[in-house]
Amino acid sequence: MMSWERQITIKSKRELEIMRTAGKINAEALQAVADLTQPGVTTAELNAAADAVLKKYGVYSPFFNYPGAYPYPASTTISVNEELVHGIPGKRVLKEGDIVSVDCGTVYEGFVADSAITVPVGEVSELTRKLLTVTEESLYVGIKLMAPGNRVGDVSSAIQNFVEDKGFFVTREYTGHGVGRDMHEGPQVPNYGVPGRGILLRPGMTIALEPMVLIGTPATRVLKDQWTVISADRSLTAHYEHTVAITEDGPVILTMLEDGSKPGRKM
Ligand code: MG
Ligand code: MG
Repeated sequence: MMSWERQITIKSKRELEIMRTAGKINAEALQAVADLTQPGVTTAELNAAADAVLKKYGVYSPFFNYPGAYPYPASTTISVNEELVHGIPGKRVLKEGDIVSVDCGTVYEGFVADSAITVPVGEVSELTRKLLTVTEESLYVGIKLMAPGNRVGDVSSAIQNFVEDKGFFVTREYTGHGVGRDMHEGPQVPNYGVPGRGILLRPGMTIALEPMVLIGTPATRVLKDQWTVISADRSLTAHYEHTVAITEDGPVILTMLEDGSKPGRKM
């Protein structure tokens, strides 16, 4: 288990600009994965598409060699269907109707951007589409509240209420987090909580907000590879994440594409 007694760091305007550049590169890597996602492609090929973008910019992913039971072996985590997070890219071949959650990180000039999308493979069922829509919308519901003066609990509870009102569940075991020179800084930002509680949000804080949503129950377990997290009942899961700066003018999403649009397949 990670320690969450981690420092909150306040970034300068200059540092936020660096993180925005990291975020653009990260978004381009996710877009490359989304563009390649189709039936017949392996998860290793998706990871290679992200790697090619990182290489083009001469940057690397903080995921690679991330400490765990053994060092994490790839630049992205690629989690299919019941896999919630931390799936290791490999030989698995995607099928029509699958969904694939891609999480990527970028280190640029010493600062980290961290972002994830869930991409449908070909045509997906109505329930699957609803899961993706609800999970993605819950991310933006949370981001809207990332303004100075609000607290972590305001963001966390808004995500939880939005997801649970739609009949789905948020995970309890994995959370969003501060991000900066380290991929995991304070504060911890769960996807559940109580309004008015928790750390006060201040300008210059940067947070990776990441709703992880399950259809059946909130329970998860870790596979024998000691990385991949799945839903305990093996029902479908989805994951979206942005790195967001809290500024005097409100939240600024740092992990959008160069043109300001979000990465992913247009649905
Ligand atoms: Mg991530
Ligand atoms: Mg994260």
